[in-house]
Amino acid sequence: MNTPRVVIVGGGLLGASVAHALAVRAVPVTLLDAAAPGTGASASTFAWANAQKKKPEAYFRLNAEGLAEYHRLAETAAGRRWFHPVGNVEIATDAASSAALDAVVADLTERGYRAERITGRQAAGLDPVIDPDRVLDAAWFPDEGWVDTERMVADLLDDAVAVGAEVRAHCPVARFEQSGARTKVVLADGEEILADQVVCAAGAATGRLLADSGVTVPLVEEGDRRLRAPGDERYTAVGGLADTAALRVPLRRILHTPDMGLRPAPGGRVVLGGDGAGSRVPRTDHGIFGLGPMLIDRARKVFPAFADVPVERVRVGVRPLPADGLTVAGFTEPLPGLYALVTHSGVTLAPYLAWLVTGELLDGREAPELAAFRPTRFAGPGHR
Ligand SMILES: Cc1cc2nc3c(=O)[nH]c(=O)nc-3n(C[C@H](O)[C@H](O)[C@H](O)COP(=O)(O)OP(=O)(O)OC[C@H]3O[C@@H](n4cnc5c(N)ncnc54)[C@H](O)[C@@H]3O)c2cc1C
Repeated sequence: MNTPRVVIVGGGLLGASVAHALAVRAVPVTLLDAAAPGTGASASTFAWANAQKKKPEAYFRLNAEGLAEYHRLAETAAGRRWFHPVGNVEIATDAASSAALDAVVADLTERGYRAERITGRQAAGLDPVIDPDRVLDAAWFPDEGWVDTERMVADLLDDAVAVGAEVRAHCPVARFEQSGARTKVVLADGEEILADQVVCAAGAATGRLLADSGVTVPLVEEGDRRLRAPGDERYTAVGGLADTAALRVPLRRILHTPDMGLRPAPGGRVVLGGDGAGSRVPRTDHGIFGLGPMLIDRARKVFPAFADVPVERVRVGVRPLPADGLTVAGFTEPLPGLYALVTHSGVTLAPYLAWLVTGELLDGREAPELAAFRPTRFAGPGHR
């Protein structure tokens, strides 16, 4: 039996993870990226591996397994370079945020996810950047961590190339077509590549690329500022981050306050993110740089250590966000050789999804863990 030739479109964390998983199994792989691999959402991400607040149950399980997969990877030298299992401290500053933490911890512990309520002093013991006098109480999620995504994409692709994969940058794909039993990948410059199987992992561009091939996978688009629920800005596609200069005493943990997140970054820097950050201003508007002062001001309200720390960079990413908020993973209709792979929480999920998807592509074994996430749920009337 011939080994199938697989073409992967998109060299973000998802495409790179699948390319690597296939290449190490000696599958001929070509990865095409419209830009340079690793420069899409995977380069502008808060990169927090976690399964908090993921609903429904199947999506929570997928993310919990995604986090567990990172812990398995951290047993390898490569995995330890990317995954930093430092845990996450969430701080309550008032009665309402404390009650919210009660609910989150109760819900997660009931599902077997490690989470506990701690005092402000215990929180300060976990990370000295926390001032116990500015904290009512806190919660601790010991298994969570952050991922050095840029390094991970680069390492995965280097390793894949070393065992024979081909990676082509600046090769935008225009569409896909059926060609006998195979799938034709048509590049923007007219070049055509025939593949036994194609994985479309083009991040936020997936919806439009698939639509041009007659496949419906609706995503929340960049200009779409509608909220999924009143006041819930996390679900707009655009998200912003600010990177600080290096702290004198590096942040030890991921931290969350009621209105923002902070995580360690290479070189002692800190990445600041916040619900709603970036969602109101178009990416092309210079007002987007207002995110830096907004986020550092929020940090300084709770953490005195940031008083004299400047912001060095503002980054804005477009979340690959399927319209129903859930992962899309599976073969498509009407192109049965085309596998769509797009998700938010793609940092948490990339290694685990790569493992499941590789099994489906190569062994023809349907992963029950993906049954709730097939792209065919969007087929038929009622979807864009
Ligand atoms: C601000 C922000 C915060 C986030 N925080 C978290 C978090 O804390 N935890 C978490 O798990 N997830 C988080 N995410 C989501 C996560 O970053 C993404 O789900 C993940 O990076 C997606 O990876 P990807 O490979 O699907 O997409 P991308 O990294 O965007 O890669 C897609 C690639 O496809 C290429 N491409 C596009 N169109 C074409 C084409 N026509 N032809 C060829 N190539 C093409 C692009 O050039 C790009 O390189 C966050 C995202 C943002 C924006």
